[in-house]
Amino acid sequence: MNHPPPPPHVQADAFLAEAAALLGVRGLTTDPERVDAWLTDWRGRYTGRALALASPASTAEVAALVKLCAAHGVPIVPQGGNSGMAGGATPDATGTAILLSLRRMDRIRHVDPATGQAVCEAGVILQSLHDAADAAGLRFPLTLGGKGSATIGGLIATNAGGTQVLRHGTMRAQVLGLEAVLASGEVLDLMTPLKKDNRGFDLKQLLIGSEGTLGIVTTACLRLLPAPIGRATAWVGLGGIVDARTLLRQMERALGEALEGFEVVPAHCLASVLAHQPTARAPLTEPHEWNALIECVSPSQDSAALRERLEAGLGTALEQGLIADAVIAANDTQAEAFWALRDGISAAERALGPAMQHDISVPVEKMPEFIIAAAPAIEAAFPGTRAVAFGHLGDGNVHFHVLAPEGAVRGVWEEADGKDVSARVYDLVTEWGGSISAEHGIGQMKVEELARLHDPVALALMAQVKAALDPDNLLNPGKLLLNPPAREAAR
Ligand code: FAD
Repeated sequence: MNHPPPPPHVQADAFLAEAAALLGVRGLTTDPERVDAWLTDWRGRYTGRALALASPASTAEVAALVKLCAAHGVPIVPQGGNSGMAGGATPDATGTAILLSLRRMDRIRHVDPATGQAVCEAGVILQSLHDAADAAGLRFPLTLGGKGSATIGGLIATNAGGTQVLRHGTMRAQVLGLEAVLASGEVLDLMTPLKKDNRGFDLKQLLIGSEGTLGIVTTACLRLLPAPIGRATAWVGLGGIVDARTLLRQMERALGEALEGFEVVPAHCLASVLAHQPTARAPLTEPHEWNALIECVSPSQDSAALRERLEAGLGTALEQGLIADAVIAANDTQAEAFWALRDGISAAERALGPAMQHDISVPVEKMPEFIIAAAPAIEAAFPGTRAVAFGHLGDGNVHFHVLAPEGAVRGVWEEADGKDVSARVYDLVTEWGGSISAEHGIGQMKVEELARLHDPVALALMAQVKAALDPDNLLNPGKLLLNPPAREAAR
């Protein structure tokens, strides 16, 4: 890829020379062979350009680089594992920004079984934290499909969710302390993990979920839990999605804190996965209109005891006619096979043809009715499409996929009808009081839709916060907020 010249106000040569002196050969490159791989997002929807790829090795280097960028007016796009789903870590096409990778800052400074805390640099990959916690007899209670790439900094910046939110909350609930470099180059040190701290605004929470627009996360203190002793996983067949919600409530009562995940999978999605993965097997003999995947984990009860509790809860549901059939995994291998069916949905649906994917939430209590109303409404408005919803019912968060009519051309349909489909889905979600981004963030993908649909008072407040913390709009411009008139908004 050819890198275009920077805008006239940036003296690129002078800036790059100073940055190179600051970061050294390992810390700064303009070599397309090393840079270009990071200029396209994970889904392959966005490709940008950058002045250079900067990979600082310490907070001090990040701070010095940010100061330099501020002095030269160079925008910064922070990047972790580049596994984000909203194009948030991809620079725009102007080539004026520097891509700031945190991947070299990948030290787990300590894992402390006594306090149940880990201190990690921003570039630590989620899987590495899981492994380190596991080795210490502990557990980091957040996981997701991108765990082999996603970094702690990226997870914090997007307030990532995943499959254990029902019990443990999103990234917001896991962060006990935070260090970040602000747009001025100052280091905000909020690393002391105080259980109680009422010294005004919670700036840590302000930075979490800000998608690199308010500061660059460099280090975090994270919450760990005792490693689980027991695990029980069930696959359940149901007649309808309303029954799935009733079952969720019953399971919450029956299993209490042990209930960790409650995912729903419609028949269409299961059939797609089975067709896509030749070695996969349906857990139940008969197909059911809906399926629920239930995961229980306990730090105090063993798997046999947990399975008994799960079996008792499901037995009651079976007697009541609430569920049609169920199977409890005999061991971890079978449990993982159930999860592989759930995790395989996105790839299987993608293989069917073009689709618009929406990560949305509505209140848990309304989710079944939303699905029942929204899927046919979309299919009627866009003839030939098929709408399917699957995922984290327990969190009121489903992935609402709309598959294109047969014969639609990939890459063409998405840009034409697909955009109208998404706008209609987001209209419906907003009418139902929900969110157009449950866990993937806004990035550049939803920035216009957020501006169109979010509460104007909230948007104005967000613009004022952005202007106060980043008055020159240098931190991840064009993401989350439609290029805010920074200095104006601050007045
Ligand atoms: P990147 O993609 O590099 O960046 C994401 C955003 O964070 C960008 O805006 C970037 O500018 C900013 N950023 C990155 N690092 C920093 C930093 N140090 N400081 C400030 N800003 C920063 N997400 C979920 O929530 N739930 C899921 O279930 C889920 N499943 C996934 C499954 C798969 C197979 C994949 C590939 C992804 C999945 N994701 C999921 C999305 C993704 O893993 C998360 O959004 C993750 O948090 C991104 O981390 P990252 O390090 O790759 O960040």
